[in-house]
Amino acid sequence: MAEKCDVLILGAGVVGLATGIALLEADPSKKVIIAEKENALALHASGRNSGVLHAGFYYSPDSLKAKFCREGNKELRILAKKYNIPVREVGKVVVVRNDDENTRLETLYERGIKNGVDLQILDASQLNKYEPLAITHERFLWSPTTAVSDSKAIVDAMRQEFERLGGTIHYNTKLSLKEVNNEIRDTQNQYDAQHIVNAAGAQADRISRAVNVGTEYAMLPFMGVYRATEEKNLPLQRLVYPVPHPINPFLGVHFTLTVDHKVKIGPTAIPIAGREQYSVLSGWSGSDIAQALKGMTSLIRGEAHDFGAILKTEWPKIIQTLLVKESLDLVPTAGSVKDWHKKPPGIRAQLVHLPTGKLEQDFVVQNKLNSTHVLNAVSPGWTSALPFGQWITKLFIPI
Ligand SMILES: Cc1cc2nc3c(=O)[nH]c(=O)nc-3n(C[C@H](O)[C@H](O)[C@H](O)COP(=O)(O)OP(=O)(O)OC[C@H]3O[C@@H](n4cnc5c(N)ncnc54)[C@H](O)[C@@H]3O)c2cc1C
Repeated sequence: MAEKCDVLILGAGVVGLATGIALLEADPSKKVIIAEKENALALHASGRNSGVLHAGFYYSPDSLKAKFCREGNKELRILAKKYNIPVREVGKVVVVRNDDENTRLETLYERGIKNGVDLQILDASQLNKYEPLAITHERFLWSPTTAVSDSKAIVDAMRQEFERLGGTIHYNTKLSLKEVNNEIRDTQNQYDAQHIVNAAGAQADRISRAVNVGTEYAMLPFMGVYRATEEKNLPLQRLVYPVPHPINPFLGVHFTLTVDHKVKIGPTAIPIAGREQYSVLSGWSGSDIAQALKGMTSLIRGEAHDFGAILKTEWPKIIQTLLVKESLDLVPTAGSVKDWHKKPPGIRAQLVHLPTGKLEQDFVVQNKLNSTHVLNAVSPGWTSALPFGQWITKLFIPI
């Protein structure tokens, strides 16, 4: 017999958990189940990211990312405090390498101000006060509200909050969806849910495509590789980022700090075939390869991004010396550090919009019958999760 519930959520990453929390906060009497395919949490993007609480200045003011990131940064701090999870108030400097980047820095600043983010553009002479190991050309951006925390611990705090409110997680439960008689159901008829939320991260578009949602997209995963060293080897005090590339939507190799006092360089943005391809030989399928090829072909045809440059510049960074070399423009003394070690890579669930050949920049939420599908939950999805979940609940789930 199918198990009855009001809302069934596929995926217990931060998006699924935050949506579950928001649903139960809105109506504690509802029965909410999250079906998670793995036997544990935080095995994918939510537990394999940089752990940066982004401030919200990168995103176009009319985007969902801008709408949720600044507020999410505040709400995640409150959750962290409640569950005794450390948040390091390190702030971020965005440094500049040439005149062209100085102009782009100004655009970034104006965007941030429009998004209501606390930001300052400062003269290069002041950088020493903020981050003595970083270098810049003429000016830099100072973001005091960027912070770092422990991505896995935050997922666990969300789990505790969801369960405290009465929610249930079913582990080892991999679901897919079908449409029958104008209703969306799970293919095994394991659940009888009033509403279904597909928050399956890098698998979400595969699940949605089966019920004809999000068919205008193809999945092109991008792997983020990191190297780390102890903070005593490179005593940075702030996160150090470059100005992002003008047309390719990743933040560029940067320096982050961790709550356990490591310095990380990365992540790269290497296009790969498999959505869960954490090693060469596993985590991909034939259909993953077909999707990735479709995405790449569309990107090359679309000409909105310089995909050739992505391939040329990102793949070599899998080699440690080349990754470190790239970072020397920001922090030259990183070159003298000897013991870099690998950190687990993460994979961005990046969608390509097939009609335009563009990498989708924003979160995408689509609704069909009794189902809601969260697609392209890329960075800053971890920071934004709590208000994003509230918005999904309010706008899409009739409870
Ligand atoms: C390298 C990297 C660095 C990042 N850095 C940051 C950062 O510093 N700050 C920030 O804000 N964001 C960052 N992000 C983005 C952030 O991690 C994601 O936006 C966020 O974690 C997405 O959460 P999610 O719940 O959608 O996905 P996930 O965490 O992937 O969760 C989806 C869950 O669904 C489950 N699932 C999949 N298929 C099924 C199925 N068929 N049935 C049931 N369950 C299923 C999976 O097992 C998984 O647990 C980064 C991402 C990457 C990859």
